[in-house]
Amino acid sequence: MSVTYCLTQGIIDVSQIIMEFYESACESHKKRERAKARDLRNSQWWKQKLAQAICYYCELSFPPEELTMDHKIPIARGGKSTKGNLVVACKACNTTKKHLTPAEQLLNSL
Ligand SMILES: [Zn+2]
Repeated sequence: MSVTYCLTQGIIDVSQIIMEFYESACESHKKRERAKARDLRNSQWWKQKLAQAICYYCELSFPPEELTMDHKIPIARGGKSTKGNLVVACKACNTTKKHLTPAEQLLNSL
């Protein structure tokens, strides 16, 4: 498994969150998921999402050139380039979000 391959401290926790935390340090994970994101960006699925022209976060409408592909759980935090984790975000929301997970954004907004 790639997860255990990426472990550096010899600590194995059964928690999925901890495993993803360790995986986030793994460069091959990031490379693989960025490549997958590139492929999906060229897909019909993504073009249809862009055509809707609605930012996932602020729910406002933007021209396609203002919209970016965003990982709800960032690749750097163990997120994957799957259709469930990829959303359309306007540049402002994408910049504000940075590398926070949805849970962290919620905490920050409290
Ligand atoms: Zn937005």
